[in-house]
Amino acid sequence: MPGCLLRGGCTPLLRLWALLLLLLPLVSLNQRGSRGLGEGDRPKLLLVSFDGFRWDYIDRVPTPNFHSIMDQGVMVEKVENTYITKTFPNHYSLVTGLYTETHGIVANEMYDPVYNRSFSMETDSIYDSRWWEEAVPLWVTIQKAGGRSGAAMWPGSDVKIHGMFPSQFLHYNASVSFEARVERLIGWFSAPKEDAVDFGVLYWEEPDESGHLYGPQSPEMDEVIAGIDEKLGFLINELKKAGLFEKVNLIVTSDHGMTQLFTDNIIELDQYIHRDLYTWVDKSPVVGILPNEGKLDEVYNKLVDVNPNMAVYKKEEIPQRFHYRHNRRIMPIILEAKEGWTIMQNRTGPFMLGNHGYDNTLRSMQPVFVARGPAFRQNYLKPSMRSVDLYPLMCHILAVRPLPNNGSLSNVQDLLYPEAPPTPSAPPRVDEYSYAPVVGSFISVVMVLGFLMFYVRQLTLKQLPSLKHRRREMSQPLLQEDLHL
Ligand SMILES: [Zn+2]
Repeated sequence: MPGCLLRGGCTPLLRLWALLLLLLPLVSLNQRGSRGLGEGDRPKLLLVSFDGFRWDYIDRVPTPNFHSIMDQGVMVEKVENTYITKTFPNHYSLVTGLYTETHGIVANEMYDPVYNRSFSMETDSIYDSRWWEEAVPLWVTIQKAGGRSGAAMWPGSDVKIHGMFPSQFLHYNASVSFEARVERLIGWFSAPKEDAVDFGVLYWEEPDESGHLYGPQSPEMDEVIAGIDEKLGFLINELKKAGLFEKVNLIVTSDHGMTQLFTDNIIELDQYIHRDLYTWVDKSPVVGILPNEGKLDEVYNKLVDVNPNMAVYKKEEIPQRFHYRHNRRIMPIILEAKEGWTIMQNRTGPFMLGNHGYDNTLRSMQPVFVARGPAFRQNYLKPSMRSVDLYPLMCHILAVRPLPNNGSLSNVQDLLYPEAPPTPSAPPRVDEYSYAPVVGSFISVVMVLGFLMFYVRQLTLKQLPSLKHRRREMSQPLLQEDLHL
């Protein structure tokens, strides 16, 4: 800063120039401040999945925290998820808006004939990026648009996809508690503005594990569901403590539901076909069968009519409504058990009392969906949606351009807080993002000009007496005594 401005030793021109230099940062600060206000209010979204939380669990036992979200926000009664109704395929559909045949995670266990590799959620094979790169998850899209995301163990979020991890993420570790995952996420949302995440995803393994173990009809599930509601209560409290509850749009959903299995309802393939004829790729209830070279028809014919509770499809016969044909990872033959039935090679394997993966139009396969926050309506019940519609909805809330997807914002826009219709008396809506910097600059320039005008006027006034005095000196006749000075 020119020191003469403080000391008062500058020429007037230099003072003006120095003042301008001083005011310039104010102009840019004001612009940043306007954008900063926008950034401060940048939409935030937290997507939570409780694995295997069936839509009707919330009415089975008291679930005050789910109900508080419903009362303050929205609930969708019937969410049609994607086929097959398994964990990895559906979690990837939620963050891509794509059917499984399009995003490429077609099952929890897969075989890719081009890569000649197998994928299993039980092994490190899931960290091979190639499985995931037929689609782009929302966190990558957000980051490419300049935003930040944080992921707490969402399936696929610790895999490098299209060269990127989430801005913040946890490596998958089932032994990390729900509370620890929440605390990390809260920290990411609460970070200083430059580092704070805009979009978070949180995954928890229950009530899926208990649902498999006990079966959804078992009384043990009551306590499990009540425990999930308590975990949701913990999340809500932590958001409140961090001052985030009214800022973050919170969506609580799941990948799929769960249905009861019965030990009598088992179809044993070994009774009908020799194992040497095929490779068993994915497990019940939708079994991927890879016949040996040249054995497609033989395998198909041996299985097609063995049990009315098992549908047998050649790939091209898979019903169109499943959107489950057009991917090389979908096997040439799939076997689909009817609800409550299990397909095994024989009964020696482990047997679960609950399972999912069945037809996605079955109510038992469908997940819960509740949401609240500044973007959502309050106390609004929507009859139905598709889970692929969630992706364009999230993009809209986050002001991110969606990639091509199978969902539709218009199907779910009624979940959002309606914008006031424009009326002649209403002031025009100002788009904060596009106009705020312009308005800020305009105000700054007006301020600077005003200040300059004031300053010039003051400067002029200050110099006027000396001019007058000089003129007076010049106009006044020289006095005698002056001649002696
Ligand atoms: Zn499961």
